[in-house]
Amino acid sequence: MLLETLEKPWKAYPFVTGASLLANSPGSVVCNLAPLKASRRIHRHIRLRSDAESGLATGDGVASAAPRRGQGGANGRADAALSGAGRGDDTGGVGRTVLRGARWPGDIAVENGRITAVGTVEARPGDHLLACDGDLITAGFVNTHHHLYQWMTRGRATACDLFTWLQTLYPVWAKLSVEDTAAAALVGLGELALSGATTVSDHHYVVPHGRDDVFDAIAAAARAVGVRLQLCRGSMDLGESAGGLPPDSIVEPIDAILASTEAVAARLHDGEHVMIAVAPCSPFSVSTDLMRESAALARRLGLRLHTHLAETQDEARHCLARFGKRPLELMEELDWLGDDVWFAHAIHLDADEVARVGRSRTGVAHCPSSNARLASGFCPVRDLVDAGAPVGLGVDGPASNEIGVLLPELRQALYLARLRSGRADALSPAEVLALATSGGAACLGRADLGRLEVGASADLAVWPLADLGDVPDPVDGLVLGPDRRVRHLLVGGKPVVADGKLLGVDLESAHAELAVRARALWS
Ligand SMILES: [Zn+2]
Repeated sequence: MLLETLEKPWKAYPFVTGASLLANSPGSVVCNLAPLKASRRIHRHIRLRSDAESGLATGDGVASAAPRRGQGGANGRADAALSGAGRGDDTGGVGRTVLRGARWPGDIAVENGRITAVGTVEARPGDHLLACDGDLITAGFVNTHHHLYQWMTRGRATACDLFTWLQTLYPVWAKLSVEDTAAAALVGLGELALSGATTVSDHHYVVPHGRDDVFDAIAAAARAVGVRLQLCRGSMDLGESAGGLPPDSIVEPIDAILASTEAVAARLHDGEHVMIAVAPCSPFSVSTDLMRESAALARRLGLRLHTHLAETQDEARHCLARFGKRPLELMEELDWLGDDVWFAHAIHLDADEVARVGRSRTGVAHCPSSNARLASGFCPVRDLVDAGAPVGLGVDGPASNEIGVLLPELRQALYLARLRSGRADALSPAEVLALATSGGAACLGRADLGRLEVGASADLAVWPLADLGDVPDPVDGLVLGPDRRVRHLLVGGKPVVADGKLLGVDLESAHAELAVRARALWS
């Protein structure tokens, strides 16, 4: 009975193919993922869920379609549960999934991982139904800048500016093992999925002892959770002794970085669920040789480029002292502007620099909470958007934004844009939702993501809005209202969160292990 229950969801999760059962218990199964060989303890948190928990039901397309928009959500979900045994999703490429009855945009049909209809969807026999009565459906969020490993060092250096914060944390990060990073990635990605992120960009630039299997571990965590991963092979080659900010103990030689980056891309980049970017860390932690060589490597391999830029006035002063140039001028000289590049932060740009970023279609990952916590400054989001730059939102690392998820960043982006300009119309809720979805997708070069349109990838977040029935516009309610988690999350049509439960990972036990590891790191 138990094996029968497990068989279907096992097949429904290609992210965990190759797994072998180590132990099981009803509703929670432990599996062994080959890419996580180095972090065996983490396997305990990866699980497979029964079909009934997927939230999907197969009906005749009539009875389960009855609840319509405007009705309460609870009845619709009860109907779905009663309409027969769940039969998984459309991951086998057969049948159709219909998200039925959302307050906005109505129904959505999904086939073969793509959106095939939006609005009113006529019922077909054999539809797999997902009741969304009264809910809001958005495209899944695209988190354009994050450092998953930093979940290991949350709540430290809480009254520091960027450079002081970095100098406090670098020596601790130098002690991180691959297993520590994997544990942080599992928690971080799980929390991000529950808060609506279907694609996450992780900028990982701490590679102690050159252990680049840490990237395999992060990718395995993303597969287990079920989200897409833009994995930025970060790097630092300029230690303190050479005029950089990080201690010499955590920088790598340039040749090793470039060889590793190419090897990581060869191992992990599939262009669909795991994408590799070439990502030297920042102007104050890398050499100009590494920046130039990284750009050349990325363009030879067809990969995107990412780095931190113009985050603080300290950085601008560092660049002027070391190069006689402002950060953006330096990037132009190093061939680091273009539509295959996105910068994290881009705060300290003058009007002419904003125009140059826009003209070159260079992307910007705006991380409002982190910028506020570190008192880094106000990103000129409105100006960048108006100049034509793709702009997305990012959490940044949980060590400078302890919330660690994207939904609050929409509200923060709106608030900061209004405070910066003194204009209450500087950014609207709908505009910040666009930044978090299509804007982020544009930064990552993924035009197929971030849109509720026919033909787009079915990366969908279903938000319960029962407490916001009094708010006229559900998007206003989502952005301006209280934080919440998704009811359902689909990535390429596959369920990742169902009825509020993360399907692939036991997040509670993953948090418990992370806390043990974090305390050990600081002891
Ligand atoms: Zn960052």
